[in-house]
Amino acid sequence: MINADVIVVGGGPVGLWAACELKLAGLTVILLERRDVSMAQSRALTMHGRTLEMFAMRGLAERFLAKGQAISTGHYAALDTRLDFSAFDTRYPFTLLLPQSQTEALIEEHARELGVIVLRGHEVTRITGSETEGYGVFAQHEDSEASFHARAVVGADARRSIVRQTAGIAFEGHPATLSIMMGDVSLRGLDGPPVRMVTNARGAVTIVPVGNGGTMRVIVVDPQRTHVAVGEPLTLEELSASTRHILDEDVHFSDPTWLTRFGDETRLAARYREGRLFLVGDAAHLHFPAGGQGMNVGLQDAMNLGWKLAAVLNDRAPPSLLDSYEAERRPVGAQLARNTEAQGALMTRFDAGHLALRAEMSDLLKVPEINRRLAGVLSGFDLRYPSGGLFGDTPGAGERVADRNIVLPDETTTRIYALLAGGTWLHLSFGDSAQVALPGWLQAGAVRYVTARTPKSQASHEQTQAVLIRPDGYVAEQLPTAPR
Ligand SMILES: Cc1cc2nc3c(=O)[nH]c(=O)nc-3n(C[C@H](O)[C@H](O)[C@H](O)COP(=O)(O)OP(=O)(O)OC[C@H]3O[C@@H](n4cnc5c(N)ncnc54)[C@H](O)[C@@H]3O)c2cc1C
Repeated sequence: MINADVIVVGGGPVGLWAACELKLAGLTVILLERRDVSMAQSRALTMHGRTLEMFAMRGLAERFLAKGQAISTGHYAALDTRLDFSAFDTRYPFTLLLPQSQTEALIEEHARELGVIVLRGHEVTRITGSETEGYGVFAQHEDSEASFHARAVVGADARRSIVRQTAGIAFEGHPATLSIMMGDVSLRGLDGPPVRMVTNARGAVTIVPVGNGGTMRVIVVDPQRTHVAVGEPLTLEELSASTRHILDEDVHFSDPTWLTRFGDETRLAARYREGRLFLVGDAAHLHFPAGGQGMNVGLQDAMNLGWKLAAVLNDRAPPSLLDSYEAERRPVGAQLARNTEAQGALMTRFDAGHLALRAEMSDLLKVPEINRRLAGVLSGFDLRYPSGGLFGDTPGAGERVADRNIVLPDETTTRIYALLAGGTWLHLSFGDSAQVALPGWLQAGAVRYVTARTPKSQASHEQTQAVLIRPDGYVAEQLPTAPR
């Protein structure tokens, strides 16, 4: 039996990131992944700005930016009016197109640098034990069973999650009601912008670049074909015929690297935790992939859980801190299910009523406040965790901290996120004596104290005298400047 503080089940992007965060906080972490080799598929192409911010907090954003392609806007339900991220106070007011295979490879590289033990070819078949005695985790590896023991288990094992099943947590929702075709292909016969979205009475076609090698992702909603079961193989001919019919153009596809169908199965775990079994990512929420959200939300689940679980296992926080994981993240999962159901309805029906609804919605998105609201939800920029309880209820508590420049006492300029790279709490004072009271359970030794001033060009930041920032970049408490 091999011991670890935490076993992470599932080595997709979310499990890998959870393992990184737990390891960064000093725990021993073993990740068990049933696949022998890394995933090669492009799947999640869209990385939102908030996810780039999360990586920036650990000094990694440049690695992703170097490999991806930035697109200045995003989409809601493939409507003609694009989502505009320029109003957000961020260094990343765009979406990054990067195949999921590359995202996973970069996170795995970071995991290995940190010292996470990643064991491939290990399919978890059984989990026993309890919160008090810890958990036995048993995995099929080649012809034998490998056994592990851990104080906590993180289930990042997606749709059929054995962690969720062991925990007895219901996965509430509905099965797929339709299917959509998707291919990563080379194409001839189409010119135009890198991202193309067409919807008409015959159906819908979306074309976006996959990486920098010339491959394009083609997503086709053909109402004549949506009845085909998700598991049915897709041929290049079927994808081509539907695309030509909908676009009424003579396009030619070749060299497919991935042909698949996906559906609108939508489910949300009734709870995100049972004892010290936790659910993150697709193990906790499944939905119609619209607006590029599943992986992004899952990564934020992992970021939220990582520091909390580590603090409790390191005896630096009360066990009740773990309740805040579900309290903060399940509403995000519920919102994800809701907005993807709504997008699905707008993206898969082509009668006159639905086309008119699309036109109305597209017009509404021209109103900046409405555009910002949806852009804020899909990107995660506008997420605000409920304040009170373990966290403060001062104005701004629960909101994300923007990555502003600050000037240190030695006159060097740095970024706030750079100070979070170690994964600790950060107390920033904009004035020598300004102090925010720590939550009663938080030891001062677990907090990095920094005194700084804002550069002259950023006078607005002087609204804050001091701010206590959680390891995941959200405000725990802040002390606003008294009105002058
Ligand atoms: C066509 C399509 C397009 C998408 N586009 C986007 C997008 O643009 N942006 C976005 O954010 N999301 C997108 N998504 C969603 C995204 O792909 C998922 O949300 C994401 O993969 C979830 O990551 P995960 O780590 O939770 O699960 P997964 O990536 O599914 O990883 C789970 C891992 O667990 C392993 N596993 C399962 N059971 C066991 C076991 N018993 N033992 C050991 N290992 C196990 C699996 O082998 C797998 O590697 C898209 C999805 C699809 C299908």
